[in-house]
Amino acid sequence: MPELVFFSGTMDCGKSTLALQIEHNRSARGLAGMIFTRDDRAGEGKLSSRLGLVTDAVEVEDGMDLYAYLVDHLSRGRRADYVIADEAQFLAPDQIDQLARVVDDLGLDVYAFGITTDFRSKLFPGSQRLVELADRVEVLQVEALCWCGARATHNARTIGGEMVVEGAQVVVGDVNQADAVGYEVLCRRHHRRRMTAASARAAALSPDVLPVQPA
Ligand SMILES: [Zn+2]
Repeated sequence: MPELVFFSGTMDCGKSTLALQIEHNRSARGLAGMIFTRDDRAGEGKLSSRLGLVTDAVEVEDGMDLYAYLVDHLSRGRRADYVIADEAQFLAPDQIDQLARVVDDLGLDVYAFGITTDFRSKLFPGSQRLVELADRVEVLQVEALCWCGARATHNARTIGGEMVVEGAQVVVGDVNQADAVGYEVLCRRHHRRRMTAASARAAALSPDVLPVQPA
């Protein structure tokens, strides 16, 4: 039976790497994939992973009907044996419904990859719809780590290394940038305390928190 599978996780948990691995394994067996993405870090029409691998993809636009796109593709005699949707958190809920229809009416497996929650720890609308509709939700096992070493379960948005909790849900940035908008994965404890790696370093250097030496 074809399935809609949602591979979910934090940023940096290896989602895009797994998407590329699935693509590689199936194309090695002679299968053709339709790859959708949106706002990938490598630019429009690309699916890339942090490990440096990249492949071409179809950039999803606002209002694009993914089911109709596949029907049109197939009706022109082109192949699509399965579908990958990366950065699925950025898709509209309607577009997730269209992916479910691809599974049910076209009989194709759809593998969606996305971040579950945003920097305020709220579900992205696309991810919420995937949780509602997916046949299976797989939480990725390649676990990202907080600076403290604990399992990172939350995404933080940073500006100059400091965590912010206000702003638009989607601002495309990159991890490890010094002063622009960046992202960092944290454990829940440090997400709640808004303590990023940079602020933890600053706190460790502050004389206020040095242990008092016995005289
Ligand atoms: Zn932590």
